[in-house]
Amino acid sequence: MSLKLEPATARKALLETAAELYQARLLTPTGGNISLRAEPDVIWITPRGLFKGGLREEDLILVDGDGRVRQGRHPPSRETPLHMSIYAARPDVGAIIHSHPPLAITFGLFDLPVKPVTAGAVLFRNLPVVEFLLPGTPALARRATEALGDEPAALLRNHGAVVVGADLRQAADRTHALEETCLTLLLARLIAAEPAVIPAALVGKLLSPGYPSIGG
Ligand SMILES: [Zn+2]
Repeated sequence: MSLKLEPATARKALLETAAELYQARLLTPTGGNISLRAEPDVIWITPRGLFKGGLREEDLILVDGDGRVRQGRHPPSRETPLHMSIYAARPDVGAIIHSHPPLAITFGLFDLPVKPVTAGAVLFRNLPVVEFLLPGTPALARRATEALGDEPAALLRNHGAVVVGADLRQAADRTHALEETCLTLLLARLIAAEPAVIPAALVGKLLSPGYPSIGG
């Protein structure tokens, strides 16, 4: 089988992203998973249960749309159905990061609005929160895909976050931005006053095509 995305390139990108997110404490030792689309319905994904701080190329799994493992010696992440479901619904998505970011998880425990406190926060202005469903179940895959809609991210209540991107770099940047946004919003809650927000007209400018909401 020939893949559009070179296996060596895909595996290197996945390993680098996993290491980066683990160091940033957005993946826990065994929690969270990352995938990259190799073909419309074929993905590279991290393995189930292995230590995220020490993954190697041979640990990564190639899975097709039927959930069949085409390459790899470990079982794929138990959230593979979640990844597959999102890829099927979102042709624009090339990479998915399911993380366990402590501040985003905390933020998601409450019904709090994402106010436009920073340009990064504007990206998550419609942040959906999915009710708690058992990890790895078809119900979670279905509900998270529905809730995500066309958004860049969704929170899984009492569990974690799902962030999508055109490629792995964008998905990782957005994962960091989501955690930074939740840090700012949670800190603002500690002060019993309304936070200053970006004026609506400038929020509109931040959302205009060609003006990325995150990055310098
Ligand atoms: Zn999880």
